[in-house]
Amino acid sequence: MVSHAYIHIPFCSHKCDFCDFAAFAGVDHLTDEYEQVVLKEIDDRLKALREKRGELGQERMRSVFFGGGTPGLVEPKVLGSMLEKLHGYIKPAADCEITIETTPHAITREKLEQWKNLGINRISVGVESFLDDELRAMGRDHYRQEAFHGLELACQSGVEVVGLDLMYGLPTQSVDSFAKSLACAVEFAARFKNLQHISAYGLHLADNSPLYSRFPRGAEAYPADNIYVQMFELLVETLERAGFEHYEVSNFARPGRESRHNLAYWKNAEYLAFGVSAHRYLDGVRSSNWRSLKRYMRDWLGDETVDVIDSDTRLREAIMLGLRLRRGIDLEAFEKEHGFDLSSKFKNEIEKFAAAGLMELREGRLFLTRKGVPVSNSVISAFF
Ligand code: SF4
Repeated sequence: MVSHAYIHIPFCSHKCDFCDFAAFAGVDHLTDEYEQVVLKEIDDRLKALREKRGELGQERMRSVFFGGGTPGLVEPKVLGSMLEKLHGYIKPAADCEITIETTPHAITREKLEQWKNLGINRISVGVESFLDDELRAMGRDHYRQEAFHGLELACQSGVEVVGLDLMYGLPTQSVDSFAKSLACAVEFAARFKNLQHISAYGLHLADNSPLYSRFPRGAEAYPADNIYVQMFELLVETLERAGFEHYEVSNFARPGRESRHNLAYWKNAEYLAFGVSAHRYLDGVRSSNWRSLKRYMRDWLGDETVDVIDSDTRLREAIMLGLRLRRGIDLEAFEKEHGFDLSSKFKNEIEKFAAAGLMELREGRLFLTRKGVPVSNSVISAFF
């Protein structure tokens, strides 16, 4: 049963200095052509899937995610034609979650109305920081005022869920300056009931990131490791105090407002994907489209990567993804699904991390403690 789809819209108003996604600035003139290619890809892939699996009509879409890039930048009718095409094969469930990612300065009242008319019920706004110095340091092309304005418009539109993304570990950022951004986010959440989701990711730079030309790796402008951990602790404390649940290492939501789409990834469910560089998981195979825009537009069914997920990899991924969720892993369900008794196979590791206060095994669930979350990567790697 496949009930989740990702559609990649690669256009951006500017290429941010830290960005390693398939996102391109200055190629908006290709939007119409890109739209047609994605429509062809949806047709080709879903016809093939229908032939392979028989009738797709029994299935229902439970989430569609327009990611990017900046999907908020394109004419809403482009997104509408993609949704229509997709739903022509797999109808949406009555409560289908449809999310759009956008920068704050791409948001307008007109677009908000059009997005809502398309059934978009979640808007994820890439704020990253509410401070101009930090926005400039990381090479964003919006200002604090634009972040306020865009978020306000989104919240006032009455769309069901507005989310905002923040980043920490930025050059020039301190614990105090991060606290200021968090305070702005909390203030928005207090003013607007539909601000119900906050993501906060630590800056992770690719080796060839242009940000290194201004702030070389190891430069003093980057917060030291202990400051990074303090930022994370502040993040969790502040948002939990404001009534958000910390449901995944980098994600917080009002109760019941977790991202269904992202949970599908983290629970290793199947999902479709369309567009340049888009990654899918179907029939035990994870594959991705060409990352080059030109190449994708010539060869929309071509694969840049193909990984057959064997039972060993599936097991490792289930451990990794499960431990990233704050509710952790239900050991009984895990054993039923994977035929693997985690608590006895990793008895020593679990005891060691529990003694260090990084992990807990309680009521049949294995999970990271708050102290364990900032060092989740090294804890999880001990299981491999
Ligand atoms: S707006 Fe987002 S996707 Fe576009 S370049 Fe900046 S970080 Fe990358």
